[in-house]
Amino acid sequence: MKRSERVAVIGAGYAGMAAATTLAAAGVAVEVFEAGPLPGGRARRVELDGLALDNGQHMAIGAYRALLGLVAQVGLRETDAFVRLPLELDVQAGPARAFRLACPRLPAPLHTLAGLLRAEGLDWPARWAAIRIMAAARLSGWTLAQDCSVADWLAAHRQPEVLVRCLWEPLTLAALNTPIATASAQVLLNVLRDSMGADRAAGDFLLPRLDLSALFPEAAATYLQARGGRLHCGALVKRLAREAGGWRLDRSDATFDAVVVALPPHRLAMLAEQAPALAVPAALIADWQWQPIYTVYLRYPAGTRLPKPMLGLVGTTAQWLFDRGALCGQDGLIAAVVSAEGPHEAWSQAELARRVAGEIARALPQLPAPEWHKVIAEKRATFACVPGLARPANATTDRTLWLAGDYTAGPYPATLEGAVRSGRAAAEGVLAGTGS
Ligand SMILES: Cc1cc2nc3c(=O)[nH]c(=O)nc-3n(C[C@H](O)[C@H](O)[C@H](O)COP(=O)(O)OP(=O)(O)OC[C@H]3O[C@@H](n4cnc5c(N)ncnc54)[C@H](O)[C@@H]3O)c2cc1C
Repeated sequence: MKRSERVAVIGAGYAGMAAATTLAAAGVAVEVFEAGPLPGGRARRVELDGLALDNGQHMAIGAYRALLGLVAQVGLRETDAFVRLPLELDVQAGPARAFRLACPRLPAPLHTLAGLLRAEGLDWPARWAAIRIMAAARLSGWTLAQDCSVADWLAAHRQPEVLVRCLWEPLTLAALNTPIATASAQVLLNVLRDSMGADRAAGDFLLPRLDLSALFPEAAATYLQARGGRLHCGALVKRLAREAGGWRLDRSDATFDAVVVALPPHRLAMLAEQAPALAVPAALIADWQWQPIYTVYLRYPAGTRLPKPMLGLVGTTAQWLFDRGALCGQDGLIAAVVSAEGPHEAWSQAELARRVAGEIARALPQLPAPEWHKVIAEKRATFACVPGLARPANATTDRTLWLAGDYTAGPYPATLEGAVRSGRAAAEGVLAGTGS
């Protein structure tokens, strides 16, 4: 494409801002239109009672190289953006430790092997079962002949109940936000290949020090502004019309040579009526199911700390606890994450907070009572990542109209990494495919 051409991006989530950053880096004047008051989308800052919270506690892993690359590109140092911790799964059942997996500093795949051999909470048959399934996955090139549910894959590899409950289920929920009975084993294998199956740094946990809007989207907005681009917040796009001069968005005076549609998937149908090229991807996802994520923030007296910045719970509603004091300086604040569907969806927020506080009190009886709670419910946090899901490509039938978002075709479930890879791919398509 010619550098003088103009590109619009609709949606300033991680995918939209990744597309905008890639276009701006190539010298294209890009304008981003975002409905909300700030960028970030499903990974954004939420101001509550004078606190900068996130709409949901997020974590990344070392394998998220596109995300880390973009964060660096827009001028943030990794050490300012994230706390990097070596992979350690520490899971409690009530007051007792149920499971612990830590991988020592050895070359891959010995680090995972040594970690599983020393895993706490497993007997020898369970350790061998874990090593067997990882070895089988590696030998198959991390590829299933036919995708199936995680539960079926685990059953085929005779994984004992303790391993399913303490390792595979929490890992699947954290990565795919879909219960193991319906989650795609192939997508889990893709994540395992790039994390526990790769070098040790790839499996590191990266926990944000900054709020999720500051972590990348706001820094990206500054980056594109310095290159002649602009982010318009509070700019809900309702109309996308093809005119002789290019694409006109209802809010814009100008027309654009190309458009990257970086909306959440359930919003695609809205624009498909005006842009027929969006009808095919909109139809493809019309029957998709969505999965929720609830984040319960609990504030404890100043100085209250979890034993680890991140702690797992089993047999509970909340699966993971994060110590926001240790991570981002929010002293005494704990974020409890409840991934995927479950009976909690029928409870009031007060009931959910009460139950989660009770679970924390049973796991960590030394903690004082919480003083305050807030629940943030994201009902359509991610698409349900089920076996064999056909996902739309970045390209549409119109070479000037591209899709970006965590739901487009790719190896990953709905994640920040999936979103930014998709945004980058859409921008590369625009740069390669339009104009002369
Ligand atoms: C609670 C929660 C916890 C999560 N935890 C993790 C995690 O730990 N790790 C991880 O990797 N991922 C996690 N995810 C998933 C991750 O947040 C998403 O995959 C990612 O943010 C999706 O980005 P996106 O840009 O594709 O879509 P979105 O973030 O949905 O961006 C779309 C944007 O379009 C805007 N928009 C909508 N309609 C219009 C319109 N008509 N005009 C203009 N703008 C519009 C929206 O406001 C939004 O900003 C979590 C998600 C949630 C909700």
